[in-house]
Amino acid sequence: MFQLQSSLRFPSDQDASGRTLGVEELDNLRRAIECGTLTSTKGTFVKSFEHAFAERLGIAHAYACSSGSAAIHCAIAAIDPEPGDEIITTAITDMGALTPILFQGAIPRFADVDPFTCNVTAETIARVISPKTKAIIVTHLFGVPAEMNAIVALANRLGIPVIEDAAQALLAQDHGRYTGTIGAIGCFSLQQGKHITTGEGGIVVTNDPALARRIALFINKAWPYGESNPDHEFIALNYRMSELQGAVALAQLGKLDDVLTKRDELAARLTARIATIAGISVPQVPPHARSAWWKYAVRVDAAIVPGGSPAVGKGLLERGIASAPRYIVKPAFECRIFREQNTFGSSHWPFTLATPEAVDYARARFPGTYDGLEAVLVLAWNDKYTSEHIEAIAQALESAVESARGVLA
Ligand SMILES: *Cc1c(COP(=O)(O)O)cnc(C)c1O
Repeated sequence: MFQLQSSLRFPSDQDASGRTLGVEELDNLRRAIECGTLTSTKGTFVKSFEHAFAERLGIAHAYACSSGSAAIHCAIAAIDPEPGDEIITTAITDMGALTPILFQGAIPRFADVDPFTCNVTAETIARVISPKTKAIIVTHLFGVPAEMNAIVALANRLGIPVIEDAAQALLAQDHGRYTGTIGAIGCFSLQQGKHITTGEGGIVVTNDPALARRIALFINKAWPYGESNPDHEFIALNYRMSELQGAVALAQLGKLDDVLTKRDELAARLTARIATIAGISVPQVPPHARSAWWKYAVRVDAAIVPGGSPAVGKGLLERGIASAPRYIVKPAFECRIFREQNTFGSSHWPFTLATPEAVDYARARFPGTYDGLEAVLVLAWNDKYTSEHIEAIAQALESAVESARGVLA
C-alpha cells in the first residue's frame, strides 16, 4: 500500500507553512504601529487596500470590513429587503453567508445545485423565484465560477439583483470577467483559510454608486464620513476593518497573483495525473471559466468505488493525507438554526413571515444538493505544494480507490 514519506510535510493554510505572510506584512504593520492610528476612519492602510483591490478587479468601489460574513451582511443591507422578502441562495455554503439574511429580516430561499459543481444554476434558481424574491446570492463553490451569463440573464429579465459570494473564488473568471464583479455586488473573505488573509476580514465590491454608499454606511454605523450634515441614517453596525488588518491585507494583495498562478499550475498537474482513475471525476471547470482553486474537489462515484467519498477519504487518511469527504456533510437547512428556527428570543422571526414553500426543506426538492454532497471529496489546496506533494496525493488517491474497489495495487 502507498504510504506517505514521513519527511514530506504538507503546507497548511492554518499556519506559516502554507501562507504567504512575510516581511512585507511586517513592514506595513510596523508603520501602522509607529503611526499609532489603528482605525480605518483616520488611517491610510485600509483605504489603500480598498483602492488597490478595486483597481485589481477593475471595479469602481471596494469597501473592506471585518469578515466575509460581514461582507454578505453589507450586501443584503444595501439591497434593503422588506421583512419576509426572500433571498435565493444555496444550502452548500458557509453559515456566515446565510445568517446575515435572517438578521436583515429576510428569508433564505434555498435553490438546488448542479451535483457536479455544487453551484446553483439558472434552472435551479428559476424554480424558486417567487413574487417575494428580492435578490439572488450566487456562491462560486471551491473557486469554480457558477454559470453567470445564464444567471444574470434570468435575473435581469426579472429585475432582481445578483450578489456574488466570491469568498472562495478570488480572481476566478467567467467569460473573462472576475467573479464578484459580474453581479450587482461581490463579497470576499480574508479569513485564515482563504487565498489571502488577515486572520479575519472581508471586502465588498460594486460598480453601483447608490449601493456603494449604502455598503460604506452599513460598515460605519450608517455615519457618512466626509459628507455635509452627517447623521446616523439607518440601523447599522460597526463592521470596520482595523488598520492592523489593512496593513496586512495590502501586503497580501501584492502576492495574490502569484498565489493564483501557482494554484492553477498545480491543479493542472494533479488533474493530468488522476483524470483516468476509475470512479473519480476531476473538477468540472467550464472552458470559458478559470477556477481560483480554493480547494480541489473531486466526485467519487459510489457505484464504482464501494463506500464512495467517505471510504476514499478514510483510505487517504490511512495513507497520510487529510481530506473533507462530503464537505459540510449536510445541507445548511439541516442545521439547528433552520430546523428549530432559533433567531430572536422565542419569536422565530423572520421565519414567521415565510410562506410554507420557502421553508419546505423536503429532501426530494434538493436532489442535486444531496447527490453533490454525498459524492464530493474535498482536497486541501495550497500554492506552496511542490511536485512531490502532487505526486503523493495522486498515488494515495489511486491506492485508496484501488483498495476500496478490492483491486490489488
Ligand atoms: C469563508 C466563507 C464565508 C464567510 O467568511 P468569514 O470571513 O469566515 O466570515 C462566506 N461564504 C463562503 C462561501 C465562504 O467560503
